[in-house]
Amino acid sequence: MSDEKKLSLQDLSEKKIAEILSGYPSFRAQQVYLAAMQYKEYSQMTNLPKDIIAFLAERYDDIAVRIQKVFEGKDGTEKYLFLLRDGNMIEGVFMPHGYGNTICISTQVGCRMGCAFCASTLNGLVRNLTAGEMLGQVLAVNARHGGTLKKRAITNIVLMGSGEPLDNYEEVTEFLRLVSAENGINISLRNISLSTCGLVDKIKELADSGLSVTLTVSLHAPTDEIRERIMPVDKKYRIAEVLDAARYYFAKTGRRVVIEYSLIDGVNSKVRDAKKLSGLLRGFSCHVNLINLNKVKERKLNGVDKRTVEAFMAALTEGGISNTLRRSMGNDIGGACGQLRRKYVGEEGTY
Ligand code: SAH
Repeated sequence: MSDEKKLSLQDLSEKKIAEILSGYPSFRAQQVYLAAMQYKEYSQMTNLPKDIIAFLAERYDDIAVRIQKVFEGKDGTEKYLFLLRDGNMIEGVFMPHGYGNTICISTQVGCRMGCAFCASTLNGLVRNLTAGEMLGQVLAVNARHGGTLKKRAITNIVLMGSGEPLDNYEEVTEFLRLVSAENGINISLRNISLSTCGLVDKIKELADSGLSVTLTVSLHAPTDEIRERIMPVDKKYRIAEVLDAARYYFAKTGRRVVIEYSLIDGVNSKVRDAKKLSGLLRGFSCHVNLINLNKVKERKLNGVDKRTVEAFMAALTEGGISNTLRRSMGNDIGGACGQLRRKYVGEEGTY
């Protein structure tokens, strides 16, 4: 691994740090681990002797991701531009709620899934994030909001930023272990949602892993004819297989699955689509989360008017399917679903 691509301390579990520092008294490893989880730089680790810092600095970076810029939305939403150590930039979103605060994090730089309505996939996949780069987004924003490991400023996480989490399975599952570690920031898996465009094999693998997060499946269409037009992944995994995997996930974890459905004008938003969707989901313990499509300037697709949303929701309810319309947050700062995109330092259009 070349120097600039070396891992950061935030990629390491407490156990791993103890192994690395096995030549030193064990309390030193604990100090390093806590400092890393508190998003401290080497220069701030004043309780550690210089030789340990030098030993670590040679092998690992202190900070996985840095906050490059924060855009503050009218509704309290904040969009973050995070700088990675290789010059790539990713985005994340902080959303305050009455019950706590949610952060939406990215799992890849770019994405290769090619969904027709999403900005994250416009330039394809650049690279996977490491587990520490995902954790770093959480730790950076927690620290910025004055949170500590005991009194967290972040209570919930959604893996819904740029990237397809299950296309980066190993690092994402390692992230889930790191972020829920007892002595770390310890965010419960129950408070974490993972959204996927429907990678069937990986949904099953996740179900078997024991990491029972809330699974969110981006369906966006009631038939394969419609779905394959807007989501290339549908050619590989058909709706029936995706829903089978979702049922398997529920059976294994007992966690109700969320179905994401973005309403797109002239594509999937008629009452007859809602009726078909009800038929598909009947008898499955799931909840439909509707989103009115957010505009992505490079794309021709548009959302729908209020009456169309209401008619769609009424048809689902009549079909016995529980549903809600997701409040779109951060629209004014390009931080809403599907608006997150890849950037690079110095690139035109960056800040
Ligand atoms: N790759 C994951 C995470 C994507 S983002 C997935 O496919 O689920 C989270 C959600 O936002 C997904 O349901 C995604 O389909 C949706 N989305 C993408 N672009 C959107 C847009 N322009 N408007 C509304 N929702 C969008």
